[in-house]
Amino acid sequence: MTSGGFRYLFGPVASRRFGRSLGIDLLGQRVCSFNCIFCEAGPTQTCTLQRDAYVPLGVVLGEFRAWLGAGGTADVVTLAGRGEPTLHTGFGAVIDAIHGMCEIPVVLLSNGSLMWMPEVRRDAARADIVKISLSGWDDASLETLNQPALGLRFEEYLAGLRAFRRDFTGALRLEVMFVAGVNDTEDAARRIAAHAALLAADRVELNTVVRPPADRRSGPVPADVLLRYAAYFGPRAVVIGPLAECASADAAQSSEDQGGLTAQILALLGRRGCTLDELATGIGRREADIQAGLQELIDLGRVRPSEDREAYYQLVRE
Ligand code: SF4
Repeated sequence: MTSGGFRYLFGPVASRRFGRSLGIDLLGQRVCSFNCIFCEAGPTQTCTLQRDAYVPLGVVLGEFRAWLGAGGTADVVTLAGRGEPTLHTGFGAVIDAIHGMCEIPVVLLSNGSLMWMPEVRRDAARADIVKISLSGWDDASLETLNQPALGLRFEEYLAGLRAFRRDFTGALRLEVMFVAGVNDTEDAARRIAAHAALLAADRVELNTVVRPPADRRSGPVPADVLLRYAAYFGPRAVVIGPLAECASADAAQSSEDQGGLTAQILALLGRRGCTLDELATGIGRREADIQAGLQELIDLGRVRPSEDREAYYQLVRE
């Protein structure tokens, strides 16, 4: 069962970190507290620290209930989407509701920028796995890499992350994004690692630009450099590799119950650029079918291959 036809659910998609992940978008648009130069979702449209009920929770949970009722399965349910999920004032209630409906673990993908708020820490601690990020080491690097909403200082951000570590008893993952020419020096890696050590994450993921980023000047850092830097982050550090093979039970679904292929492709690409393989795994269709759907969308001018990396496909934004 895929989420085609739903507004706030997407996938399950093949996640490099969590297996088959059903995503829930709590923003409905590009709202984030950061405007990272490496963002796969493109530039942030509304960059804010203002929390709000950005989408109606009744509709979100209704969609999730319908997906479950239709036999939906996934390894995890992920609060993600195209922005910062903790900006939604009801994200904790969503986590509780999902726990009440099924046993699928809930993952919260957060940049951690609101963790200085006690109510955000309290609600985030309800997730089974929380992934936070830290790629800078001071105000200047935070500004360059993440371009946060006005008013967020690095010390406040880091203090929030540290306070969350103290509160949270689940699995904490920390992602460090390395960008060529910005934070890829030995000195930068050591400084970030010094802050990361204070967070004592269960796993530290060293990542780099893989998909076409928001700012095309953002380039990837070679794997051998990341492997060298991993030593600074201790034994729990891993370098994120290419998409893992992901056995998808849904792959055997008939084409009949997976109608709207082009709509599903557009829905996934609306959130991030994807490879053919990722689209096939995420949607649960053969690569040949996906290729035919992509060609149709390319002919219509809705999708194009990435200019700098042929293997990725992106929406054509007007
Ligand atoms: S990478 Fe994450 S935190 Fe940064 S702008 Fe994109 S959605 Fe927001």
